Amino acid sequence: MTLLVWRKSRLTARLEIVRSLHAELISDSAAKDRHTLGSLHWQNREINPDGAERGEVMSAYFAMLWRFERLHAGRKVLLEEGNGSRDVALKMLDEQVYTHVAEYVCTFPVIKDKLVESNGDDPVFDGAYLKTFDQLRRSLVDSFDDPEKKARLGAHTNNTEKCNCKCHEVPAKPPLPAQRPFSGASA
Ligand SMILES: [Zn+2]
Ligand SMILES: [Zn+2]
Repeated sequence: MTLLVWRKSRLTARLEIVRSLHAELISDSAAKDRHTLGSLHWQNREINPDGAERGEVMSAYFAMLWRFERLHAGRKVLLEEGNGSRDVALKMLDEQVYTHVAEYVCTFPVIKDKLVESNGDDPVFDGAYLKTFDQLRRSLVDSFDDPEKKARLGAHTNNTEKCNCKCHEVPAKPPLPAQRPFSGASA
């Protein structure tokens, strides 16, 4: 009886961690960042180096990297606590985050190229975070048996014929006109 109660409360605790890890990816601020990066990614548009856009894209880019870093850290704890085996809680987490991780396998490198192209004098120092994202991606590949999911979680390659993401078929678009804060706001 006691063992049963203990197991149940342990699972409850793990499910609570899963809930908070997933909540991080679907919060209002995450939705805003995902929209900023997602629209650039899917429209295959260049970033205007003037005005506010580049700074907004840069901060959304890093905010998403940090979210995946926290997800990876939390997921690692759940994995280690379960001695590497995936219980109900971990399976639930993996199903919930799969689409997000798969989407960012292409989003991160594509957005980074756009950031670098729009201003080569302002480097993007993301090395450690990208490494962590790659560890998360590789760990998730091991979690799924579905070949389609494994393929979508495959490493990104700049060879567009190999990338599963449809964004590479979208013709490149020029940047939007620079949007400066407060422009046109004067009476
Ligand atoms: Zn791609
Ligand atoms: Zn893509």
